[in-house]
Amino acid sequence: MKQFWSERIKNLVPYTPGEQPKDRVFIKLNTNENPYPPSPKVIAAIENAAGEGLRLYPDPEATALRQAIADYHGLKPEQVFCGNGSDEVLGLCFYAFFTPGKKVVFPDITYSFYPVYTELFGLDYEEIPLNEDFSLPVDQFLGGNGGVVICNPNAPTGRTLPLADIRRILDANPDVVVLVDEAYADFGAQSAVDLINEYPNLVVVCTMSKSRSLAGMRIGYALGNADLIAGVNCVKNSFNSYPLDRLALAAGEAAIRDVEYFEQTRRNIMRTRDNTIVRLKELGFCVQDSNANFIFITHPDKSGQELQQGLRDRGVLVRWFNKPRIDRYLRVSIGTDEDMEKMCAACEDILKG
Ligand SMILES: *Cc1c(COP(=O)(O)O)cnc(C)c1O
Repeated sequence: MKQFWSERIKNLVPYTPGEQPKDRVFIKLNTNENPYPPSPKVIAAIENAAGEGLRLYPDPEATALRQAIADYHGLKPEQVFCGNGSDEVLGLCFYAFFTPGKKVVFPDITYSFYPVYTELFGLDYEEIPLNEDFSLPVDQFLGGNGGVVICNPNAPTGRTLPLADIRRILDANPDVVVLVDEAYADFGAQSAVDLINEYPNLVVVCTMSKSRSLAGMRIGYALGNADLIAGVNCVKNSFNSYPLDRLALAAGEAAIRDVEYFEQTRRNIMRTRDNTIVRLKELGFCVQDSNANFIFITHPDKSGQELQQGLRDRGVLVRWFNKPRIDRYLRVSIGTDEDMEKMCAACEDILKG
């Protein structure tokens, strides 16, 4: 088949999102969603926006949302680009900053959307293997490439690259863009956003899906100097001028302005994560250090697949990647204390059997 498909997409292997079950209720720890609801102020803002105004197009510039994001990060609105989820923002950035024939580099174990974009856009790329302990071999990212993409904290390992190493990478690549995907930085990592006014080649991509409980609204953004952001706008306006709808614009603005709720929920998740790690280590799991809202775990007595299936049978969904080097691991999103208690109890049960 694929009879009428363009040559460009005939061999494309798309990204596979985690399962969104419809048949039964699971404890869902497989897609890094936030277990807490969005801020009540966000719900109120959406209700307020859900009126007769919907017949009008949304603001193509997302002016109010960009202002709110700029205020929050201490930047100017022209340093902010908003898109329909950070996946879209990442795609637009790849198109805007990377040139066919000049190879983009990223680690071999990282967010699996990056190779999909490079394939889609016909970009050359090299996956540089992480060290055995999943740390990043910084020396291999110091120049001689057409761009760098770093997910920090990394997915699915949860490991964080210190800001000093991000700086070394930025210093060594002054003529290409270094894109840092900070989807999980709000859960305890030091953000590279503070370096934006120092480095004209730095782009930081953020999402409201994880730390602001808005995966269902699709709001992501990129931060960088005004010239880089103008480049992303050029691509956006050549593809879809209205990526964020009126409800998302209202929700995003309310979410970023409700700092108190954000602080409270992210702290809860970090506390639950740290308690879960202690508990899993008692059960004999090896757990990677994590500054994310997920943990990456392995157990000497069970394969990754056995654990995933055992948990599924007990009503808990987690993510297992059938890939070399990480196929003995599970990525487990951090839910509420109660979710994690059930997850740990299910693990204990599996290990007994
Ligand atoms: C979840 C995730 C994203 C995408 O987030 P959306 O804003 O929901 O599209 C981007 N990068 C990484 C590493 C993620 O885990």
